[in-house]
Amino acid sequence: AVPLVVAVSTRLSATTGLLIRDRASFERARNLDAVIFDKTGTLTEGRFGVSEVIPLGKTSTDDVLAWAAAIESQSEHPIARGVTRSAEEKGLRLRSVRDFRNLTGEGTEAIVDGHDVKIVSPGYLRRRGIAVESSDVERVNEQGKTVVYVLVDDALVGAIALADIVRKEPRDAVGKLKEMGIECMMLTGDARAVAKSVAADLGLDDYFAEVLPDQKAEKVREVQGRGKSVAMVGDGVNDAPALVQADCGIAIGAGTDVAVQSADIVLVRNDPRDVTAILALSRATYRKMI
Ligand code: ADP
Ligand code: MG
Repeated sequence: AVPLVVAVSTRLSATTGLLIRDRASFERARNLDAVIFDKTGTLTEGRFGVSEVIPLGKTSTDDVLAWAAAIESQSEHPIARGVTRSAEEKGLRLRSVRDFRNLTGEGTEAIVDGHDVKIVSPGYLRRRGIAVESSDVERVNEQGKTVVYVLVDDALVGAIALADIVRKEPRDAVGKLKEMGIECMMLTGDARAVAKSVAADLGLDDYFAEVLPDQKAEKVREVQGRGKSVAMVGDGVNDAPALVQADCGIAIGAGTDVAVQSADIVLVRNDPRDVTAILALSRATYRKMI
């Protein structure tokens, strides 16, 4: 039989927009040591705007943006939406695209006008030993901007700096969680400089940056290996294995089906403060039973 307090809490949670899919995991939520948040869309708005286009060769600023937008118009990634919107606002004509594909966690690639075009992360360039020497790129990195690079036939033609907005809600959530003695961390595929700036802004205890999608679960395991009981909060397809690995996997907001299926708890609203509510609810529920 379901103990009364649990039945009441479960009903209560349904009205506040928490769906408990795994009750054992909800019980574990009272003893968590750490919460790991996905960055984009959870701690930040997930709406990138282009703040600067930096040519790195002979290609003009508008052409760098046009090459990039041609590919990005085929992608649903928040960075892609920002790039596409910027090209639209400038009224740039986009070339025809074929053979579009995702370079998972590193960018995208396609054939544009017969040329191989890639939009990639700083990590992609580093892993291939491609150096970027530009004081403008250094400056936007220092500003904590997200920077992606445009390659045409494997030659670097430019960089695009984008900014996302850190949300207000996580600041409250992080403050309360820390008061409850819980460490707050962030996991992201984005660059270290961006992660560092978001972490400082929100007062996070730790962060993992430039994490490829298939390494996310590994990072959760690493924290668990320090003897910590861990909750993971995310919404993307990429987050699913990490949600499964966590002691308490929490899908947030209008998460992808894959994230929801992989989670122990589903938060209907996209509000990180509801994570604090789950922990408090779990503590209150199971305290009454003892
Ligand atoms: P997260 O969900 O943690 O923000 P992703 O795994 O989606 O990260 O992406 C990691 C990195 O890969 C991005 O920060 C970016 O550098 C690069 N990337 C992925 N997809 C795209 C894209 N469509 N356009 C440009 N860059 C991309
Ligand atoms: Mg994500």
